[in-house]
Amino acid sequence: MSDILAVDGISKSFGALKAIRNLSFSLKQSEVLGIAGPNGSGKSTLFNILTKIPFGPDSGEIRIAGDVVTEYGPRQIVEKGLVRSFQTETDFETLSVIENVLVSLPDRDFAKGEAAARKRAMEFLDSFDLAAQKDRPASEIGVYDRKKLMIATALACRPKILLLDEPAAGLSRPEVAEMIQLIRRVNEDGLSVIVIEHIISLLVSVSNRLIVLNFGELLAEGAPDDVISDPRVIEAYLGP
Ligand code: ADP
Ligand code: MG
Repeated sequence: MSDILAVDGISKSFGALKAIRNLSFSLKQSEVLGIAGPNGSGKSTLFNILTKIPFGPDSGEIRIAGDVVTEYGPRQIVEKGLVRSFQTETDFETLSVIENVLVSLPDRDFAKGEAAARKRAMEFLDSFDLAAQKDRPASEIGVYDRKKLMIATALACRPKILLLDEPAAGLSRPEVAEMIQLIRRVNEDGLSVIVIEHIISLLVSVSNRLIVLNFGELLAEGAPDDVISDPRVIEAYLGP
């Protein structure tokens, strides 16, 4: 299968700190790629670089579906089909649940008027069991519902590649199990997904392939079961 995303030798420094070091990897069409790594290993920075919010790489190249997008701005990146959800809840908190989805819909959903757009937004809320909460402020709904809302708003942009940053952080065990099902479901229609997560059981359950970052470098890559039993990976997590 062809690569929907290719990252070739990217680096990013913050002053003296090399947060991402000469990192290369690819994402295949319809693949779920898991990213693990200790705290501060550069996982969220990688997503920032890919979405250009607020910065791109210092060097290296990024291609989406074969096109070089290294110099693209955040809006062009979304138009190319790469959309993220955030590690911490950064939805528009003062907006209602449905308004969060409405502001994410592409212009074409408003071509037939506001009512048609609201109907479309409700379809996204329905598919995440959020319809009953549509008029509540996003700041007032539960943690799991907010995680689902972030995914719904990301999907409302009609991505080809969905980036999820710790979608299960703060969830209870049954909610983690539901999140696993939810990630599988969004991938079923062929959407390519990259998921960062600390909960290794989630990564192993959903990922076709796993990569591990350590100090901004690629430490390991391969089948999830092989990667999590790699002694170098275990040492990176547990320390010497
Ligand atoms: P992870 O998501 O793997 O826990 P991050 O990508 O958030 O790690 O951070 C990687 C490293 O880069 C950390 O040392 C962090 O403090 C640093 N860092 C991240 N963003 C910035 C920034 N905007 N300015 C300065 N340092 C940053
Ligand atoms: Mg992070």
